[in-house]
Amino acid sequence: MIVAGTRADLAAARDSMVGRVGVVLTMGALHEGHAALLDAARSGAEHVVVTIFVNPLQFGPHEDFDRYPRTLEDDLQMCRAGGVDLVFTPDRGEVYPDGEPGVRVDPGPLGGQLEGASRPGFFHGVLTVVLKLLHLTRPHAAYFGEKDYQQLVLVRRMVRDLDVPVQITGVPTVREPDGLARSSRNRYLSPAERQAALTLPRTLREGAAAAAGAGVDGALAAARRVFDGTAEAKLDYLVLTAPDLAPVDGAYRGPGRLLGAAWVGGTRLIDNVPVQVSGSPAALG
Ligand code: AMP
Repeated sequence: MIVAGTRADLAAARDSMVGRVGVVLTMGALHEGHAALLDAARSGAEHVVVTIFVNPLQFGPHEDFDRYPRTLEDDLQMCRAGGVDLVFTPDRGEVYPDGEPGVRVDPGPLGGQLEGASRPGFFHGVLTVVLKLLHLTRPHAAYFGEKDYQQLVLVRRMVRDLDVPVQITGVPTVREPDGLARSSRNRYLSPAERQAALTLPRTLREGAAAAAGAGVDGALAAARRVFDGTAEAKLDYLVLTAPDLAPVDGAYRGPGRLLGAAWVGGTRLIDNVPVQVSGSPAALG
């Protein structure tokens, strides 16, 4: 496995690859969720490239950039075990040689909603670094987790709108045995907070179960009830949308996505599940 810290070393290693290349973009602190992306990349491509870069552009001034976990040796070990051919581990100056970029990708209206409403400028930062890393690694395919569902939808949209020649594949969310979505930020949680964090996946499960029969409004009401009386976890947003994140009204029937964000202590967690929305026979009649 080649570890490249510079663009020049990355380009040289990439040039030597013959055949289909798959890339997994990460901020490190790799876990089983990332491992699922590596598996998907390995089955879809002949060469697997991983990037590890904590992107300063997507962190707000009061967010966790400085304390974001950095575990490079363990990450490289996981990449080795995952059959990765090339890991790009640039520092800030390698990705942004001229300092903060003046030109950034505009994520459009969806970029200001949900995560973008809570974190202004977040998706400008995400899409800008994703586009740069796609240009630098030149993959045929790129693999993104459904865990960050809005990111996945916006990356698909960027690739379509800007004609980026890469195939985007979404990979289902990997969870802990008790249902918590795996995340690099879970390690911030104290044991009590770890327990309280389960409110979020429980909310989504209840909502998804209610969506089949009780419609959009019934699903949201059932989901919100889980958060009632839970002082340790505070709901930021909870929405039910179409699979492409377009808004739906109470009459909507069909496939959808239920997405939520919550604060547990000082940690912000996000999660989402697919739902199938149907009304009760009485409601439909
Ligand atoms: P991150 O390192 O958190 O920026 O994530 C890098 C990639 O891994 C993104 O495409 C994430 O959506 C994906 N990812 C993170 N956690 C999970 C998970 N629990 N299941 C599946 N994919 C994940």
